[in-house]
Amino acid sequence: MTAHWQEQVSLKPYNTFGIDVKARYFAQVQSDDEVREALAQARQRGLAVMVIGGGSNLLLTRDVDALVLHMASRGRHVLGDDAGRVVVEAEAGEPWHPFVQWSLQQGFCGLENLSLIPGTVGAAPMQNVGAYGVEIKDVFAGLTALDRHTGELRDFGLEECAFGYRDSLFKRNPGRWLILRVRFALSHRLQAHLDYGPVRQRLAEQGVQAPTAQAISDAICSIRREKLPDPAELGNAGSFFKNPVVAVEQLARIRAEFPGVVAYPQADGQVKLAAGWLIEQAGWKGYRDGDAGVHRLQSLVLVNYGQASGAQLHGLAQRIQADILARFGVALEMEPNLY
Ligand code: FAD
Ligand code: NAP
Repeated sequence: MTAHWQEQVSLKPYNTFGIDVKARYFAQVQSDDEVREALAQARQRGLAVMVIGGGSNLLLTRDVDALVLHMASRGRHVLGDDAGRVVVEAEAGEPWHPFVQWSLQQGFCGLENLSLIPGTVGAAPMQNVGAYGVEIKDVFAGLTALDRHTGELRDFGLEECAFGYRDSLFKRNPGRWLILRVRFALSHRLQAHLDYGPVRQRLAEQGVQAPTAQAISDAICSIRREKLPDPAELGNAGSFFKNPVVAVEQLARIRAEFPGVVAYPQADGQVKLAAGWLIEQAGWKGYRDGDAGVHRLQSLVLVNYGQASGAQLHGLAQRIQADILARFGVALEMEPNLY
């Protein structure tokens, strides 16, 4: 076996669903050189490679017959600070939320609405992580990725990443790009985004009249802690389904039968339906089958009460998808990456 590679490693500590499957080989990588070396050796041995960060957007349904590369590179620094605009760069293995907190402590604004999202910096562009009205595309300055087909390094600008709603070029080409570091354009001046969900109300309850970026972050953390299960206590991968974006005509058909349907207009003229509302209406909220279930407070979140397998959770997800399609004519798409 290659130096630093471990064999038959349980991935339970490395995925937030807490699914106990094994990786045939497992290696932690902390630098570009270690990444290149591991990829070269895997290629020589004809092994597939699976990259993981925090494992918070994964559903593992079987043992992984591959080398699992765990991104553990660290480092964050300011690349430029000019006329109120600050560009910071962070290595892929940096845990996301501590990075957000570090940026706020430096007095940099822009990432506050993306507080308390689990996972790593390197995975954040994969699905253009978003919360409370902000997506990383809004503060994105660039990234450096390794082309796993050619071994070449490439810098990507905003347009090239083709970010969409929980989507990107990288998500659409699984296995091609390994993201090594990401750059963000932040600001010394706060542009507050408070009009999403209960953010403004929470700040008012906390007596905050002129919110700072840190106050917004704190308010969002407090809302999230109340509503979302902590993976350290209850296995989950956050929202299990994307909110479906449909034509207004389809919304009209649904609204005729279900007047309370929750929908948000999109810039392109379509509407985004709240998948959580559809699932709750269909009676799945709090549902439990063995150790696989739907969270009792947030029906968009599937949970592992302990010993659920990835296949059981996937089976539950498929039953929900079939039910929502039959009731509302809406196809729900899974958000986590399935293996
Ligand atoms: P992983 O799960 O390790 O990997 C996800 C995918 O990215 C995999 O396909 C993996 O192969 C690939 N990947 C990982 N690192 C790299 C890399 N360096 N280069 C190339 N590919 C890579 N998401 C949101 O968008 N908004 C939220 O508000 C949000 N809230 C969440 C709350 C909870 C409680 C949980 C459990 C999850 C939540 N998520 C949310 C989902 C998840 O945290 C994010 O998608 C996060 O960015 C995943 O990061 P990760 O490091 O855990 O990725
Ligand atoms: P919420 O506030 O209860 O809202 C329910 C849904 O309605 C959300 O999914 C959100 O869509 C949408 N929504 C709410 N206000 C909106 C507005 N003003 N304009 C457009 N859409 C609006 O949601 P929540 O579950 O507590 O989550 C809060 C935020 O954190 C959301 O942005 C959510 O996406 C994010 N989050 C994501 C994950 C994940 O794993 N992806 C997990 C937890 C939380 P959007 O989802 O499109 O924002």
